[in-house]
Amino acid sequence: MLVDNHGRKISYVRLSITDRCNLRCLYCHPEDEWVFIPHEHILTYEEMFELITVARQAGVEKVRLTGGEPFARRNFIPFAARVHDTYPDMDLRITTNGTMLEKNVAELVAAGISCVNVSLDTLNQEKFAQITGVDAYAQVRAGIDAALAGGLRVKINVVALKGINDDELPAFVDFARIYGLDVRFIEFMPIGQTSRWSQDNYWSAEKIIAAVETLNPLHEVQASSRNSGPARMYALHGSAGRIGVISAVSHHFCESCNRFRITSDGKLRTCLFSDTEYDVRSILRDPAHSAEDILTLFHRANTEKPLGYHLLRERKHAPVCNKIMTSIGG
Ligand code: SAM
Repeated sequence: MLVDNHGRKISYVRLSITDRCNLRCLYCHPEDEWVFIPHEHILTYEEMFELITVARQAGVEKVRLTGGEPFARRNFIPFAARVHDTYPDMDLRITTNGTMLEKNVAELVAAGISCVNVSLDTLNQEKFAQITGVDAYAQVRAGIDAALAGGLRVKINVVALKGINDDELPAFVDFARIYGLDVRFIEFMPIGQTSRWSQDNYWSAEKIIAAVETLNPLHEVQASSRNSGPARMYALHGSAGRIGVISAVSHHFCESCNRFRITSDGKLRTCLFSDTEYDVRSILRDPAHSAEDILTLFHRANTEKPLGYHLLRERKHAPVCNKIMTSIGG
């Protein structure tokens, strides 16, 4: 088991499949100029599978496959299927921008994947293009419809952007209510050198929930499992839909953080707000390595896992970490 000095147990790994993404979201990576991680540095699926196997042995119960855009990497679904087939009791999740979802739903369902998180920051086609740099709103909506029709559980993640999508709160509440979906607002985080974070665009979880309550009676629901994550969820009266908030900036959840992040080039990060990385790829590529070597690194990294809110507090006006979200995986 990976338990640190604060009693935190690592049970959740977010694995970035690729740093490539087909969108240029203003809060993440708006520039067209993009320095990709060289192909030879990206972990092979075999190496990623080995990492998941070791993580599993160390007590990890939940894996999220993210990116970049995971569907942008060839053979992503067969890889997810292999993980699911080998570890059927593992809580396996996917986070996607939804642009390539529609054509992949049947294969996902056949692979036994039951839930996808789709990032969608607006319900307006023009605004979608402004936020993401690409006119792909219709594709995302078609992907969501296809996923629901195929029997997948869909959760929507919205980056809360004051002055940009706060006017759409009633539309998102209706969306959650009509489709019976979870819509979760993530506080805009000052992550990565290319992020256009500004205090003017910061919209707190507290204000979001207060605003939703003026539209619809809410009651907070308890997390269904200890791996449910840091979202606070609220049921919408008279619907299966729920609204949630992830208050990564205003109410940190460092004391209960149960996660490791692994970048597509095999760097382990123990905290979203820290640039400290542990080089798992070098170990994986040493022909003499064993699972024990990876476990030893996991243990060392976990012992040094910080309480990230100190880093958030200490930052002045700079972003809290240098690496961009497409590399880290959100
Ligand atoms: N391409 C996939 C997607 O769009 O969901 C996976 C990668 S994306 C980096 C993962 C999540 O991070 C998305 O929900 C995205 O909205 C969120 N994200 C990226 N930058 C963020 C920021 N600065 N603050 C809050 N959330 C952010």
